[in-house]
Parts: sequence; structure tokens; C-alpha cells
Amino acid sequence: LPILEVQDLHVSIDGQEILRGVNLIVRAGEVHAIMGPNGSGKSTLANTLAGRPEYTVTSGKAIYKGLDLLKMEPEARAREGMFLAFQYPVELPGVRAWQFLKAAMDAKRVHAGEEEMGAREFDQLLRSKVEEVEIDPELVRRSVNEGFSGGEKKRNEVLQMTLLEPTLALLDETDSGLDIDALRIVSDGVNRLRRPDNAAVLVTHYQRILNYITPDQVHVLVDGRIAMSGGPELAEQLEARGYEWVREETGAVV
Ligand code: ADP
Ligand code: MG
Ligand code: MG
Repeated sequence: LPILEVQDLHVSIDGQEILRGVNLIVRAGEVHAIMGPNGSGKSTLANTLAGRPEYTVTSGKAIYKGLDLLKMEPEARAREGMFLAFQYPVELPGVRAWQFLKAAMDAKRVHAGEEEMGAREFDQLLRSKVEEVEIDPELVRRSVNEGFSGGEKKRNEVLQMTLLEPTLALLDETDSGLDIDALRIVSDGVNRLRRPDNAAVLVTHYQRILNYITPDQVHVLVDGRIAMSGGPELAEQLEARGYEWVREETGAVV
């Protein structure tokens, strides 16, 4: 059973069809990269899988761990081990980063029939993960993302992902705004998490981050459909030849 299977997914925003039949199978142990030109629907795919309400699924299916994903609330998706990291992280004034992290962990544990983590146990775990992610320990005492630099937001996001050990990590990266350090933090985080029983889908416009994360499969989303799929070499071809080449090869409208 794949971790995620998307079947002929059609999604509209404000009555306009953006995804026009996306098919995708992500198996345990795999990292997939979704690439494509701006406006091709990459974020729409990520946001739909995350359950954001402004995206209307008009037809198709998404099966996550055998569950009907599209019927699940965003919180239920998270409790079932989906992790969603976004281009524009929200700021939560008054909620300290560590509190947010503990609440996320506890929700998942309670759902799994376990008890909430004790303060001391959590503190120890957080300390070790803070070291692993190379994040400033002061950062977790501040309000979530409030006044964080771009790099700090990324580190905080990777810290959250590292703590939660998701079954499916979904990352929507602009990576244009990422400096080389932040890029390394994100890549290290994804690579450290790689296990035979989990998977990641990395959404990215640029090939650059794929110098640090070697995906098992690369998909090119063009005009709301996956126009081409291949191995890591496809990302290199895209880097060398641009998205226009995909149009020439497939007849898809870029
Ligand atoms: P990508 O991430 O590949 O750049 P998006 O999924 O963000 O593409 O956008 C796909 C298309 O959907 C674009 O034409 C964009 O203008 C449109 N779109 C995205 N979000 C919204 C929204 N909230 N309201 C209206 N149109 C949107
Ligand atoms: Mg169709
Ligand atoms: Mg996008």
C-alpha cells in the first residue's frame, strides 16, 4: 500500500480549474520532487493535500495510508502523521515556539492512545533536537515566527518536522529566498528523516535544493497536470534546458 496515492485530482479556486487531473503515487521510503514553472499548480497541490479550505476538489481521489484524505480535517491529517511546511509560515503572537511544538506532539500522541509528554521528558527531547537542527535555543522561547528571519523560520519548521517524525512530509519551498545555510538546514532535516517507513514530497521551482536532496522521483507539473516524470537526472535536465523544453517534448502548455 503506497503512503499516498493521488488519482485524477481536479481542483478549482474561485471556480477556476487549477489542477486538471493529477496522478501521483508515493511509496514508503521515497522522496518525490514536484517541479514546474510558476503558476503551474504546485502550491495548489500541496495546499489541497494539506486540506486548506479555499481549494475545491471537483473530482478525483487522494488516499493516504489507506484513508480517504479528502474527507479528513487538516488536524486529522496532521495527527495521522502528515507534516506540512509552507512557503509562508504563520506568525503566532503570544504562543511560544516550544509550546506550539509540545501541543503538536501531544495531539499526535493522544491520538495514538499515548499520554501527553511530561514537561521534563519533552524538555530533554527538545534540547537534543535543537542541537540536531543547529537552532538557537533562545528561538524556541520566542513567539512562533514573530520577528524570525527567513532562515530562523526555516530552522523552526525543520525543528518541528524533526520532532514530529512525520510519515509524510510535504514541503513547499520557494528556495529562491533561502541562503545556502538555510538550504542546508532544510536538506539535512529531510535527509536525516529518510527512513524505509516514511516519505517526503518536496515542491520546488528551482533545481538548486535537489543538489542536497536526491529525490527518487521528479515530476514536472505543467498547467495543472504532471507532464513528465523521471529520476533525479530529470531535475538536472530541467536546470540545463528550462521548462520550455518540457513543452517542446510533451506538447503541454507551459
Ligand atoms: P505554483 O505554486 O506552481 O507557482 P499555484 O498553485 O500557486 O502555482 O498557482 C496556480 C494558479 O492558481 C495560478 O494561476 C494562480 O494565480 C492561481 N491561484 C493560486 N492561488 C490562488 C488563490 N488563492 N486565488 C485565486 N487564484 C489562485
Ligand atoms: Mg481528468
Ligand atoms: Mg508555489
